[in-house]
Amino acid sequence: MSGVDGAKEVRRPWRESPLATLLGRRLLGWFLVLALLPLLASNLIGYLRSHQITEEVLEQSLEAVTQVQVLHVRNRVDRYLALLSAVAVGNEFLASGARAASGVTRGVMGDAATRPALDVYLHRQLVELADFSELMLLGLEGELVGSATPLESSEQGPQRVEIAGPVEALWGAAESEPPALRFSVSLTGIGGDHVGFLVGIVGPALLPSFFQIPGHVAGDIESLILDQEWRPLYVSHPHGPVDYSRPLETILAGMSLGTATSYQDREGVEVIGRASEIPESSWIYLTEQPDAHALGALRRLRQASIYVAFAFALLVVGAAWFVSGGIVAPIHRLVDATRRLGAGDLEARVDAVTRDEIGALSLAFNEMASELAQSASRVKELHQREIERAQQLATVGELASGLAHEIKNPVMGISSGLDLVKRRVGDDPEVELLMEQLAQEVGRIERAIRDLLAFARPSDPQLGSVEANQVAESALRLVQPFAEQSGVFIDLRLVPDLPRLLADGEMMRQALVNLLVNAVQATDSGGRVQISTGIEEGNVRFRVEDTGRGIAKDHLDRVFRPFFTTRHSGTGLGLSISREIIERHGGRLEVVSEEGQGAVFKVVLPFEPEVSDCNDDSVVRTST
Ligand code: ADP
Repeated sequence: MSGVDGAKEVRRPWRESPLATLLGRRLLGWFLVLALLPLLASNLIGYLRSHQITEEVLEQSLEAVTQVQVLHVRNRVDRYLALLSAVAVGNEFLASGARAASGVTRGVMGDAATRPALDVYLHRQLVELADFSELMLLGLEGELVGSATPLESSEQGPQRVEIAGPVEALWGAAESEPPALRFSVSLTGIGGDHVGFLVGIVGPALLPSFFQIPGHVAGDIESLILDQEWRPLYVSHPHGPVDYSRPLETILAGMSLGTATSYQDREGVEVIGRASEIPESSWIYLTEQPDAHALGALRRLRQASIYVAFAFALLVVGAAWFVSGGIVAPIHRLVDATRRLGAGDLEARVDAVTRDEIGALSLAFNEMASELAQSASRVKELHQREIERAQQLATVGELASGLAHEIKNPVMGISSGLDLVKRRVGDDPEVELLMEQLAQEVGRIERAIRDLLAFARPSDPQLGSVEANQVAESALRLVQPFAEQSGVFIDLRLVPDLPRLLADGEMMRQALVNLLVNAVQATDSGGRVQISTGIEEGNVRFRVEDTGRGIAKDHLDRVFRPFFTTRHSGTGLGLSISREIIERHGGRLEVVSEEGQGAVFKVVLPFEPEVSDCNDDSVVRTST
């Protein structure tokens, strides 16, 4: 019992810990695994895949934007050159002015075009070509022939201009000021000969309308046009101050053009950038898209999906907890009740609150516990009765032995008195018969006294080396006259060379005599009794077998009880004394019998018994 309690004490804290409760809810565990794993796995795959896809899409969109944009810029340059060319090609008026400045006077108009006339003409053209902020007419050597500046800033330009290419950037003095763009086209007269240059300048203020960054790349997307040294010509949406005089510091400068990459821009903003060459020019188009802008929507989507997955997981856990709680809690109650019942608390019951299988199990448990409690109380009652009976027997035994002791001597006196009277009376047959009957009755009284005394005060066995066959023979010799009187034949069958027994020969013989007398008494005249010896499972075995009345089924478990008898002259002590003797020698006495079929009493004795003080009347060994 203490072991059970101990086990409980050790187990309880663990069993009741939240972790154990959680683990104990195996159903919940499986439910969660099966329900949540696919959800979490699909979420994770979606999470990783969406990032990859978005990056790919972003790269493609950046590529598309830059491709469109570089073509756009190229077109703008071509358009502006074309605008200038439309004025400069075959313009005899401007050509004559240029020729005059170059000292060449050939042409349709000779040197008729004078400087003021040219300036006025160029002014008019500038009004037409509003995309330019300044127009200049240059001779072949770059000498300034005429110019038109907007009316509000009609400063004189330089006297000689170096022309390096069709489009050039002209940086101002201030670092923060973007450069102006200078477009130069060849000036030809009617003859088509090159006589000078028509130069159009797009000042910083007009640059946005020159580049015309379209709406889909506007917003926080920064588009930069850079010259071949990576100096900014134009920044569409400067996030901060731009130093136009120096090359742009960007990671893209060290990479091959056309590669999209993520980095921190000049303001520390995470951006994805891509640079491309503008065809037929040395310029570079660079676009930077803030990471947050490009991936913001994706991030929000992914955050939302994580929140949703988390909320769903919580919901599933809650639901599973609730559902499994409904199943696990009653099982826990059942387990508790079973343990209590096992520990001896027969009042342990469970509330069968549900009508499902658990409820049925709880009801079955309660029924089992009730039946157990009933049978336990029956056993207790029987045990109590047995104890009372044993006490009564002890009392009766004591009384009987006291009484036997008291009457033993007087009976012996009567017996010897009877012998004397018998001798003195002589040959009177009537008296002789009476004397014979009296002697028999006194003999019966003497045997009853002997049995009572043997039962009430069994003496300790005096162990010695005993031969089993001799014990059987001497028992037979004692019973033989009685058997002959009853007309019963006793057959003796001995197995030779049996191992010797360590036993009290006198007591063993008494036990066998009791069995033989019972067998003869149960057998009608002409019947047979057999006593035999042998070996059984390494023990010595005696068997007393008869062909008599046999024992009724309901008497079988009672024949060994003291004072149980079916004979009117019996004491009911013979078998209980025999069993007592045999058990004291460490052996056992068994009976097999059926009513009307005779009886077999079997004595099994170890060669060297552990002699015990066996006095348990309640043990009845029978077999049928
Ligand atoms: P008693 O012989 O004085 O009645 P025992 O204890 O020897 O007391 O026997 C108890 C009872 O067991 C007998 O009264 C009888 O009913 C039954 N009994 C014992 N041996 C046999 C037997 N060989 N055949 C049938 N009944 C027997």
